[in-house]
Amino acid sequence: MARKFAAEVMIPRAAEYDRTMAYPQDIFKAAWELGIVNTHIPTEFGGAGLGAIENVVIAEEMSYGCSGMGTALEANGLAAAPVILAGTPAQKKEYLGRLTAAPLQAAYCVTEPGAGSDVAGLRTRAKRVGDEWVLNGAKMWITNGSVANWYFVLARTSEDPKESAGSAFTAFVVDRATPGITVGPKEINMGQRCSDTRGITFEDVRVPAANVLGAPGKGFKVAMGAFDMTRPPVAAGAVGLGRRALDEATKYAQERKTMGKPIAQHQAVAFMLADMATGLEAARLLTRKAAWLADTGVKNTALASMAKLFAADHANKCATDAVQIFGGNGFNTAYPVEKLMRDAKIYRARGPARAARAPAHNTLMPRTNNPFPLLPPPQRSTRVPARSSVSLCRASCSRPAMTCPRREEGMEGGGEKNIYIFTLSTRASAQAPTGLANPRSRRAVGRGCPARRELMSVVAWKGWAE
Ligand SMILES: Cc1cc2nc3c(=O)[nH]c(=O)nc-3n(C[C@H](O)[C@H](O)[C@H](O)COP(=O)(O)OP(=O)(O)OC[C@H]3O[C@@H](n4cnc5c(N)ncnc54)[C@H](O)[C@@H]3O)c2cc1C
Repeated sequence: MARKFAAEVMIPRAAEYDRTMAYPQDIFKAAWELGIVNTHIPTEFGGAGLGAIENVVIAEEMSYGCSGMGTALEANGLAAAPVILAGTPAQKKEYLGRLTAAPLQAAYCVTEPGAGSDVAGLRTRAKRVGDEWVLNGAKMWITNGSVANWYFVLARTSEDPKESAGSAFTAFVVDRATPGITVGPKEINMGQRCSDTRGITFEDVRVPAANVLGAPGKGFKVAMGAFDMTRPPVAAGAVGLGRRALDEATKYAQERKTMGKPIAQHQAVAFMLADMATGLEAARLLTRKAAWLADTGVKNTALASMAKLFAADHANKCATDAVQIFGGNGFNTAYPVEKLMRDAKIYRARGPARAARAPAHNTLMPRTNNPFPLLPPPQRSTRVPARSSVSLCRASCSRPAMTCPRREEGMEGGGEKNIYIFTLSTRASAQAPTGLANPRSRRAVGRGCPARRELMSVVAWKGWAE
């Protein structure tokens, strides 16, 4: 259905909307009537209640049709995600219900003129006054800024400049009609030009306390949590754009002839097409894996970031290569690929692909609170069977490993001067090394001396670790 919609409704109007830069309200309404926007909203609030996998399939098709229109249609997803994650039943009924009852838009307001990647640096403030919060500040680059019926807004509520991001911000749902909100002029962007991007100013905007999403002070997590839901569809948008570039380039390369044969038969062109197709398969698989994790309830922060990072870069490669394959025509607005190249850039600029590396990188670091360990988590304890015994070299407990004269000696046997034999706890559930009987060994182990590593390697070598 989404593919048919893209082919029959979006593609024929894409160039016109790119030229006029008008918000594609009629396309939005047609998609809303068909049920291919707000698909992630639970059925109890009038949505389709679809999972992340279905959402990325739809997002890819929309973006294939026109990624500018696709962004305009998908922006509701970004605004609604925090409400789905942290809203009370009453908030969900009111604000998600509005989006499903009528073809209305919402917007996600986090970025500011001085703070984009550095969300913790944002300056919009909210102060509690009686039963209300008073918002002051300016947001920037807000998709759906002028057409939204309501806004998700993140504001600083702590006066303490040293307060951690996790406790310093509060999330709100703010009605567009609230006095004190001013929407700036439409930003003229390089690509995705029919998507509506604005600055929004909040001047003494009074928001009922009932419109706080989650707990006061806990808004950062709410705002960031939304990305786990929304990064896969954004990545899918990049895949859709890349696939369109590949299809356009393939068609052109089969028709255009040089040196007596279609350019598709020149190896340099054929390899470009092959690389485009290969990367698209990889990007799609990564995207679908991130979506699948979300559907199965597994934290997907790393995979969602990897998907967005890889798909964004590859969409840009596909679009650039498509322009190349079109030769001089690729540079001209009469052909579809220059638009793809302009449109593709946003996937690397918005929630920059560079910054998207941070969650992916962080997840690779072995930490005890690792949200989605790609490497095994660090072993904090090892269960050993009852009545096992291992010996430790005393010297290795008191000297740096490399200077330990006993280091090369066997770990078992003991009895020599400098060798202590410790018997592990007789309880089957005892933990090594804290289960060691000798308090002295516990101290040594507690300081993280090389003996711990050696003990653990013996435990592992003997196959005692569970
Ligand atoms: C068309 C469009 C629509 C948007 N829609 C929305 C929206 O609906 N809601 C919303 O809240 N925001 C929106 N944004 C904002 C977008 O999320 C930000 O532009 C983005 O987060 C980057 O922030 P910035 O522009 O302030 O760049 P900066 O944060 O100033 O970054 C500038 C450059 O520095 C790099 N950089 C930054 N930090 C690091 C780092 N730690 N390490 C290495 N490099 C770094 C970046 O990758 C970038 O290349 C939109 C932006 C655009 C252009």
